[in-house]
Amino acid sequence: MTEHARRGIDGHNGEVRVLVVEDEVALAEGIARGLTAEGFEVAVSHDGIDGYEQARSGDFDLIVLDIMLPGMNGYRVCRSLRDAEVWTPILMLTAKSGEYDEAEALDTGADDFLSKPFSFVVLVARLRALARRRTDHNLQPLELGDLVLDVVARTCRRGTTDIPLSPREFALLEVLLRNRGQVLAKGDLLHTVWGEDFEGDPNVVEVYVGYLRRKIDRPFGRSDLETVRGEGYRLGSADLAVR
Ligand code: CA
Repeated sequence: MTEHARRGIDGHNGEVRVLVVEDEVALAEGIARGLTAEGFEVAVSHDGIDGYEQARSGDFDLIVLDIMLPGMNGYRVCRSLRDAEVWTPILMLTAKSGEYDEAEALDTGADDFLSKPFSFVVLVARLRALARRRTDHNLQPLELGDLVLDVVARTCRRGTTDIPLSPREFALLEVLLRNRGQVLAKGDLLHTVWGEDFEGDPNVVEVYVGYLRRKIDRPFGRSDLETVRGEGYRLGSADLAVR
């Protein structure tokens, strides 16, 4: 095995985590065994509702989703995940009979589809492509008008002005930009940026929002980072919310 393969396809040291939602137990186990042998970390669910719950946890990098499932069919699982703002790439397994439309699979928010019966080699190739696409997507600079946060170079600028940020300010701005147009509760920001184990004063969020405003907004006469009273904070107007 090459060093690259051992390290996983996303370039991190951690393995790529795949959730396989497939009620045909033998097929599910076969996929799981094969993907594990390819270096993926695999979890299996045989039921739509359970699969949805597991997928919603956000603990996966990729999801392989069958359409005909007990509890909740694949289309509904997919649509519900997207409605819940879970953007994990989904490869949907469609029936070859033509009973299920591949266009419909893509329409519900799936990223790719593969019709049964499929070649395992093709499945692995498609999953690797999806994982790469996800990684590339996550590395794109984040923008709001002329405010640009480059997550690779770790730089921030407004127009042509470079804005130095502390690591914590950077992390907070990254979360706000990734969810631009959406109100983020103080508790959620605390959890995401300071971590679950943070035991200090939760008002630290307000303090850092203040720091950010003094860097990204005030010197430029802007007020992009808003306080939504009683709810939290929002960067950019609500109609910018990423759907
Ligand atoms: Ca099935």
